[in-house]
Amino acid sequence: MTQGCNELGGCTEARLERIYEYLDGVLEADGVDAVRAHLEGCEECRSVYDLECIIRNVVRRSCHDAAPEQLKFKILDRLEEIKDSMPESA
Ligand SMILES: [Zn+2]
Repeated sequence: MTQGCNELGGCTEARLERIYEYLDGVLEADGVDAVRAHLEGCEECRSVYDLECIIRNVVRRSCHDAAPEQLKFKILDRLEEIKDSMPESA
């Protein structure tokens, strides 16, 4: 169990949504600060964030080259595993 995450209210689907919004650049300034602070203290969310960055790079690259679908699905599988291993909020 990650200590930092419990201190910050735990990792929930809602919190992961915020990370995606942060990556999309649609988060308001307050939200950006909160997500950054959480990522610094929480290893689990940081690995989700890192994976999402990798996925985005793969997708972006696939616009030019042949899409590496296999790799993408492999990453998405791993992402699901991480989500499943997180403590439930409800
Ligand atoms: Zn977290």
